[in-house]
Parts: sequence; C-alpha cells; structure tokens
Amino acid sequence: MFATLSPFDGTDLSPVTATPAGDLPSLVEGARIAAASWADLDVALRVDALAKLEQRLLSRAEEIASLVRLEVGKPLEEAALAEVLPNADLVRYWCDAIEELLLPTLVDPDPLSYPGKRGHVVRAPRGVVALITPWNYPIAIPLRTIVPALLAGNAVVFKPSEVTPRAGALIASLFEGLVPAGVLTVIQGGADLGRALVLSNVDAVVFTGSVPTGRAIAVACAERFIPCSLELGGKDAAIVLADCDVERTANGLVWGAFTNAGQNCAAIERVYVVEAIAEKLIARVVALTNALSSSDTGRMTTTAQHAKAKAHLDSALEAGAKVLTEGSPDADGRTFPPTVLRIEGTSADSLVMTEETFGPLLPIQVVADENEAIRLTNASRYALTTSIWTKKTRHAQALATRLRSGVVTINNHAFTAALAATPWTGVGDTGTGVTNGPHCLTSLTRPRLILVDTNSASRELWWYPYTPALRTVAFAMAVVRGGGGFFARVAALAKLVPALVKRLFFRG
Ligand code: NAD
Repeated sequence: MFATLSPFDGTDLSPVTATPAGDLPSLVEGARIAAASWADLDVALRVDALAKLEQRLLSRAEEIASLVRLEVGKPLEEAALAEVLPNADLVRYWCDAIEELLLPTLVDPDPLSYPGKRGHVVRAPRGVVALITPWNYPIAIPLRTIVPALLAGNAVVFKPSEVTPRAGALIASLFEGLVPAGVLTVIQGGADLGRALVLSNVDAVVFTGSVPTGRAIAVACAERFIPCSLELGGKDAAIVLADCDVERTANGLVWGAFTNAGQNCAAIERVYVVEAIAEKLIARVVALTNALSSSDTGRMTTTAQHAKAKAHLDSALEAGAKVLTEGSPDADGRTFPPTVLRIEGTSADSLVMTEETFGPLLPIQVVADENEAIRLTNASRYALTTSIWTKKTRHAQALATRLRSGVVTINNHAFTAALAATPWTGVGDTGTGVTNGPHCLTSLTRPRLILVDTNSASRELWWYPYTPALRTVAFAMAVVRGGGGFFARVAALAKLVPALVKRLFFRG
C-alpha cells in the first residue's frame, strides 16, 4: 500500500505498510497503558526527554526537507524553512514554557462563606489523543500537536495523511528512544482508518484537514462526548490600502499566494485592493509572478488538487475574470503556473472567490475603500487569517478588530504559523481548533479541581437539617448582599445575626 509516485519528479516512492484496522483497539489500549505512567512522570523529566528532539530535527534537516520535497513536491528551501527550523523553535518553546503552563492555580474561597477550604486546579492530560493530519505540511502540522500533547502527559496515536505516510514514519523515527513504547504510536492508512481511530477508545481528537472531514469528525466526537479540535480550510484575504509600500506588498502577496503552490490553508486566495493604488499594485504583482521559476513554486501534490484549481480557474474565466500572467496548467496534473486573475464581471461570485482553491491562483478585486474590503472579507464562510497592507499600522490595528479572522497580520501574511507561542485558529467553517500557543492546552488537557477542607465543624451551614433558621439566613443574606435598599438591609442584618448564631451554635 502507499506505493505512490513522487509529485516532485515522478519517481516511485517506497511502499509503506498500512496498519490493519483490526489492530487499532490493542494499539489504543497500549497507548492508554503507556499514557498512565508517562503522565505520572514529573513534567521536568518529560521535558528532558523531548528537548533532545530539537537537535535531532536540526541534524536531520536535509533528510527531512528532501523527503518532504519528494512526497509533497515543494521546493527544498521551503521544506527546510517551513518544516525544519520552525519545528526546532517549537520544541524549544514548549520545553521552556510547559512547566509554568502546567502549574496548578490556587483556589482560595471567601473564608466567611467557605471556612477552611483551599484547593488548586491542575491541567490533567486528556489521556490518549488521536491526531489526524493533512499532507500539505506533513512534518510541521503534526509536531505542533505531538510536542505539547506529550509534554502535557498524554499519549498520542497519530495518523498521517495517506498522501504523505513516509513523513509520518519519519516523525516516528524522530521520537525513537526518547519516549517509552506506546507514548507515540503512528498508524498508516486513509479515511477508513481515520474514521476508525475517531470511533476508538481515544479521549480527544485533534484534526487538521478539510471542512467535510472536520464536520464528520465533529459529529462522531459529539456522539462520544469527547472534545475535538478542528483546523479546517481557509480562503484568506489580503486587504491592500492606498498608502501601502507597493514593493513590499506585491512581494508579500506573491509569496503568500504561491508558497507550496498555494496548497496552504492560509494562502492568500483573495486580494481586495483599493482603487487608488490598484493599477500600480497589480502591475507589480504580475511582473513578480511572471519572474518566478518552477523551482520557486513547487508542484501540485495530488492530481485531484490540480483538477480542483483548474475548475476554479475555468469558472472564474467563464464569469468574466481575466488572466494577467503567462502560462497555463499542464495536462500532467502536477504543473500549475502561478496565475494572477483580475476579478471582473460576475466572477466575484464564482468559486475562485468563494470556495477554498488550495492552488496557485491569486484573484485580485478592486474595491472602492477599506469598508468594502472588510465587508467582502467577512462575507466568507471561512475565516482563518487576513492581512492588511498599509503604512498606517495604528489604523490597521483598529480595522483588525472589525475582521472575523482568527489571525490578522499587518504587512505580512501566514508566517505566524511558525510562531509556536501564538494561536493559530479560525472562525466559521475554518473550525474552532487552536494549535500553537498556550490556548491549545485547552484541547490537550482538562481542568481538575482538587480541594482540601480543614473545617473541623461537625457540619456545614448548608448541610441538613433544613430549618427555619437556615431559611432566614439564606434570604436575609440575599438582602444584605444587595437585594434591598439601605433600610431593608439594616432590617435583614438584624434578622441574619441571631439566625446565624442559632444555626451555627445551637443546631437551629
Ligand atoms: P482531508 O480532510 O481529505 O484529509 C485530512 C486527513 O483526514 C487525512 O489524514 C485523511 O486520511 C483523514 N480522513 C479523511 N476522511 C476521514 C474521516 N471520515 N474520518 C477521519 N479521518 C479522515 O484533507 P486534506 O486534503 O489532506 O488536506 C487539505 C485540507 O486541509 C484543506 O482544506 C486545508 O485548508 C486544510 N488545512 C487546514 C489547516 C489549518 O491549520 N486550518 C492546515 C493545513 C491544511
């Protein structure tokens, strides 16, 4: 199984053995057993174990980048810059941060109402976390969950995409000898195995992938009452204002749209440029795009993705859009030149502006002003990241608060996925998942309160028996705490004190 051809050079890739679905229950059970002793370890020991990953990633940089190029078809530079270096940063960040992030928080209730009580809330690991990932960033996306999940004391059962199983196997090899058997289990298979994993005895699911798969997983998790984190598709917009730095903006748009051949959830798939700067900006974007070589933009990873991008292009052209750049998609199903489109006619309502393309198309729509740009940006059912390009950064920060997106960058796009400390998240059909940053611990851990009561009284005020004195205490307390005016409060206090004495000292 998985003896696929490389999108990079068409060579036969070594076959990968699929995991039989029947093995899943025992693998998940093994993970559960491993998780128990892994969670018992002091967090400092888990940090010691995983810190070594940073050096392993860096010393195997060429091997990792070469494999990603073969399996995904992306340029070697991009593979190194997106799949190796940020992962080393990720390991460093989590190893530095996790002990503090897992510190218990003190619970110290009001001693008059709750005498002698003190507790703490800990972040308990979920147990066994199922991780299911796509093919476009086959090293970086899985590690973003595996590293914090393991540090937090979970075991992970990880199913990489069937398009990039070798990258999944490489991840397993990176952890060899660092964690006990069963703490990280890599299983190989397609949709059926993913479905079976979600339905197995796991405690949480972290998923990155398409909207339909995310929806199916959300339903399955809801049935089982287990949490799921969903990072789904995107249709990122870039808003270009009249005072932008044209050179930087044009370079940023071209990279943001065409890196990884546009097969990026946060690729720029819509540009809204205000009229005043539109012609200048478009001319520069077109010139920069025509100057790209095939080694800059990589290949389409799957023929299905090629066909989808072609269908979006065709529907835009039929609706009146104009192609501004050179070249046309090749019949080989892998080559797709970076294509800049001018949105005209009814093409603003065509697939290329409304549905995720996940390919190297950059449609540009001229708008009257920033208000129109924001309205159109927010009209999408997706909302992952949005960028605003302007020199007036203070003004842009105010505009950012009017955008639905999970991430807003001003004068840059998408690169924050590489910042381990910042949340990567969306709204709407992009899903509600969070990876990166402390907020991702909400999916990977659950709060557990442990409270100690040192009150030596034989009973609490609110325990049985329920008596008239207790009733007086309850209602007088409500008035004293603000449920009545000044005189009512004085009167309530006069009732409260004797009722309390009766209740506490004379078993009333
Ligand atoms: P996909 O949904 O087809 O597959 C993703 C993974 O889910 C694969 O491992 C696949 O085997 C598995 N799977 C498929 N059906 C399943 C099911 N019913 N139950 C459980 N698992 C199942 O997505 P893809 O084509 O691999 O990836 C492209 C999509 O991923 C795009 O929509 C892209 O935007 C999205 N993506 C999102 C982010 C983000 O951070 N928001 C990042 C990268 C990619």
